[in-house]
Amino acid sequence: MTHAIAALLLANTTAPADAISMRVFLTQASYLAASVLFILGLKGLTRPDKARRGMQLAALGMLVAVIGTLIDAEIITYGWIIAGMVLGSAIGAAISIWMPMTAVPQRTAISHAFGALAATMVGIAHFHEADPTHAIGSVEMAALGFEVLFGSLTITGSFMAFGKLQGFVPSQPITYKGQNASNISLFVIAFFMFVALVAAPDSSYSAALFYLMVVIGLAVGVLIVLPIGGADMPVVISLLNSYAGLASSATGFALHNSVLIIAGALDGASGFLLSILMSKAMNRSFANVLFGAFGGGDAAAGTSVSTEGLTVHSISVDDAALQLAYARLVIVVPGYGMAVAQAQHQVRELAELIEKRGGEVKYAIHPVAGRMPGHMNVLLAEANVPYDRLYDMEDINREFARADVALIIGANDVVNPAARNDPSSPIHGMPILNADQAQRIIVLKRSMNPGFSGIENELFYNPKTSLLFGDAKSSLTQLVSAVKNA
Ligand code: NDP
Repeated sequence: MTHAIAALLLANTTAPADAISMRVFLTQASYLAASVLFILGLKGLTRPDKARRGMQLAALGMLVAVIGTLIDAEIITYGWIIAGMVLGSAIGAAISIWMPMTAVPQRTAISHAFGALAATMVGIAHFHEADPTHAIGSVEMAALGFEVLFGSLTITGSFMAFGKLQGFVPSQPITYKGQNASNISLFVIAFFMFVALVAAPDSSYSAALFYLMVVIGLAVGVLIVLPIGGADMPVVISLLNSYAGLASSATGFALHNSVLIIAGALDGASGFLLSILMSKAMNRSFANVLFGAFGGGDAAAGTSVSTEGLTVHSISVDDAALQLAYARLVIVVPGYGMAVAQAQHQVRELAELIEKRGGEVKYAIHPVAGRMPGHMNVLLAEANVPYDRLYDMEDINREFARADVALIIGANDVVNPAARNDPSSPIHGMPILNADQAQRIIVLKRSMNPGFSGIENELFYNPKTSLLFGDAKSSLTQLVSAVKNA
C-alpha cells in the first residue's frame, strides 16, 4: 500500500508560494489522519470480530494518504497518475472478486512483489535524477541503498513465493551443496557495496555499484526462497512483507515523507512480528524455516512412528451421524483440508443441526491450521459461524477431555500426538490440539496421506478414532442429511 504513495511522490515541480502553504498544510494533515487510521486499522486486526472494521479503517487511511499526495503542489501532470490508479484499481477489484480464498497467500505474495517493484523503481529514479544541483549525500544514499536492496530482493523473493504456491515453481525445497554459505556470501557482498556507496556517494563508480547492488538483490531474492518448502511460504511472505515495509520507510526518508516512514515502519514491524509468531506456533526457529529446507522428503524420513500391526477404523456416514446427533459436546477441529474442500458452509450447517438437537458445538482453532495465519477464522467467519464459538488452542485444550466427539475436518499435523510424545518427530515440541483426549474422534479426510510435515499421524490408529474417507465437503453434506434423519 505504502508503495503507491511513493510512486505518486516522485513527480516534482513548484507552484506559487501562497498556494503552496495551504496545500502543504492539507497534505501534512492528511498524512497525520492517515497514520492514525493505519494504527487503528492494525488494532482492529488483533481481534477476528473487529478485523473487517480494521481493514476498512486502514483502506480509508490509504485513500486519505493518496488524496493528500494528489493535492501536493509538486505534481506536474495528473495524466499518468490517473491512468495508473484506474488500471491498478481495476486489477485490484478483479483479484478481490474472483480469486478464491485458498489462493490468498499467493495473492499476498504477488501484491508484495509489485509493491516492492514500486519502491525499488522510486529509489532508482531518485538516484538517476541526481545531478550537480542535487547531489546525493551519505544519509540520502543510506536511505536509497536500503530501499533498493531490500526492495529488489523482495521483488524476486515474492515472485518465487507466488510461483511455489501457485505451482509454477516446484514447491519442494530445492537444495544444493554450499547453498546457505553462497547465499549469505552474496548478501554480504551486496551489503559491502551498500556501505561503499554510503561512504562515497558521489564517487565515479557509485552508479555502477548502485545498479550492481540491485542486480545482486534480485538474485538473492530468488536464491533465498529456493530452499524453502511451499508450505513455509506464509512465513516467508510475511517476512518479505516486512522487508517491503522497511524499503518503503527508507523511501520516506529519501523523499522526506512522514506517512511513508510511519506506514512503512508499521508494515515492517507487523510483518516481522507475524513471521516470528508463526515460527513460534510451529515450534520452529526462524533459522529453521529459512534455512532448514523443511517440507521435503527428509521430514518424512525423520518420523519414528511405526504403523505396522496397527489398524485404521473406517466409519460409515450413518454411524458417524448417530454419534454426532446424540453428542452433548462436539469440538470441531478444522484444518487445511477444510479449506481445500471449501467445506466451511457445510460445517456450519452440521453444527446448527447438532445444536438444534440440544448439543453444544465449539471450534478449536490452532494458530497454524491451514496455510496462513487466521486461515480457519476467515473461512468460518465467511460461513457466518459466530465468533464466540471459535476458541484459541490454549482456551479449548482442557475441554477435549469432556467432549463426546472431536470432529477433525481436514486437519492432520495440528492434532498429531507425536508432537507431544515423540522426541524424534520433526514436529516434536509444536503445541497441538488435544483431540486425542476426546471420548470419540471422527476424522474426515480422503486417504491415509500425511499433512504438510509429511509424517504419519498415530492419532488415526487410536482405537477411539474412526475415519470417514472422502472429500470433506461431500462427507459433510452426507452427514447433514443423515443427522436430519437420525
Ligand atoms: P495438514 O497439512 O497437516 O493436513 C491437511 C489434511 O487435509 C491432510 O491430511 C489431507 O489428507 C487432508 N485433506 C486435503 N484435502 C482434503 C479434502 N478435500 N477433503 C478432506 N481432507 C482433505 O493441515 P493442518 O491444518 O493440520 O496443519 C497445517 C500445517 O501447515 C502445519 O504443519 C503447519 O505447521 C503448516 N503451516 C501452516 C502455516 C499457517 O500459517 N497456517 C504456515 C506454514 C506452515 P488427504 O490428502 O488424505 O485428504
